[in-house]
Amino acid sequence: MIKTKEDYIESLKKQKLNVYYKGKHVDDVTTHPALIPHINAAAKTYELALRPESEDLLTVTSHLTGKKISRFTHIHQSVEDLIKKVLMLRLISHETGSCYQRCVGFDAMNALYSTTYEIDEVKGTSYFKRFVEFLKYIQSENLMVVGGMTDPKGDRSKRPGEQSDPDLFTHVVEKREDGIVIRGAKAHMTGSINSHQILIMPTQNMAKGDEAYAVAAAIPLNAPGITLIFGRQSNEERKLEDGIDAGNKEFGVVGGEALIIFEDVLVPWDRVFMCGEIDFSGLMVERFATLHRQNYGGCKGGVSDIIIGATALAAQYQGTANASHIKDKLVEMMHLTETVYAGSIACSAMGSKTKSGAYYPDPLLANCTKHNITRNIYEISRLAHDIAGGIMATLPFDQDLRSPEIGKHVKKYLASVEGVPTETRMKILRLLENMTGGTCLVESMHGAGPPQSQRIMYQRLGNLPQKIKMAKVLAGIDN
Ligand code: SF4
Ligand code: FE
Repeated sequence: MIKTKEDYIESLKKQKLNVYYKGKHVDDVTTHPALIPHINAAAKTYELALRPESEDLLTVTSHLTGKKISRFTHIHQSVEDLIKKVLMLRLISHETGSCYQRCVGFDAMNALYSTTYEIDEVKGTSYFKRFVEFLKYIQSENLMVVGGMTDPKGDRSKRPGEQSDPDLFTHVVEKREDGIVIRGAKAHMTGSINSHQILIMPTQNMAKGDEAYAVAAAIPLNAPGITLIFGRQSNEERKLEDGIDAGNKEFGVVGGEALIIFEDVLVPWDRVFMCGEIDFSGLMVERFATLHRQNYGGCKGGVSDIIIGATALAAQYQGTANASHIKDKLVEMMHLTETVYAGSIACSAMGSKTKSGAYYPDPLLANCTKHNITRNIYEISRLAHDIAGGIMATLPFDQDLRSPEIGKHVKKYLASVEGVPTETRMKILRLLENMTGGTCLVESMHGAGPPQSQRIMYQRLGNLPQKIKMAKVLAGIDN
């Protein structure tokens, strides 16, 4: 069983995934300098579980075994569990300043728990029982799971079966006595090079004819036939350098995403949790999306706290902290942060029990939370850039600062408030640059689904007819 950060790293070393970085095979992800920051971030979910002051948020009693487990492997049993999830996420973000990846599998497990229960009820299948066995294994070993939803999707105007290449959606190519054979890919898979299992799910609502694409299953990431190709992030190669230019060298820029390819991967039946039930694929997608959208005011709220702190420091170091418009912009950043956090708490507080007994956040409010993230994080970053100034984008290299010939010029001409070394000012500007640009913003836009997918939920759940009815009553319109 994995307990410590060291246990976790040892487990990753042993499993030997088929990972590629920059076109080259990675023999050991735990010693690769580009991957270590992402592993460090995920490792925080193990480290904080052992810290007495955060234990209450990071651990919980399993409703299946009565044993103490990581909250990241837990099925929510109450509204309190839903709220504690959000508190936990904000707390971990304060330590990493980046995504720590483990929530995706956490949400996938919760989505499958309630959905498999409901499939069985209607179809007489035994997916729920199978899934519970898988869950007990994950809980007892304290493993990290990737939630695998997004397929590459090819031509978006075509359904899975209409694509010229059928593998652009992950699908079952063969049903055998000993299991099913999977082919295809999952894209943008957060934390996958440092996880143990992937829980694949259908990427969208499936229609008649799409049966092979309505598949959910758990697969060890070192299964034969799996290849992981790690994605680039903004300025990620600065993590390979010495000095201060990386900004946040110890942890990732964002999550650490990979394209995962499945070339005829055999999955035994006891790890298959949906196979052809097209009428439940939409429900599974909705459950997962809601559970993941619930999170963002927690994790991004925590990341924004650091951005606000760094922005305030940049202002102090530059001598602008007392200007009223700077103070007001910092207040605005706090307002935007607490707004997204309030959304996460609200959808959790308004959560309810599913048929399986697992608790589920309010879907409309969870979608609203994520929708605000697609805007507020950009605005928070915009204000950070406004306050920090153009210097954030034009700083010289760390090597210039340390150069025996020109270091003196950098120190002299980038000095600001007396008593603050130029290097200190540069450090905070680099941290801000790292946390407010490129992939960080795109992740806020598209992580847990793009804004349009949240707007669809307003159309479905927003109850416009009821609003129209109320307006008519007050206006005295009869029909
Ligand atoms: Fe968790 Fe946030 Fe990362 Fe998603 S973006 S995996 S919710 S930390
Ligand atoms: Fe994300």
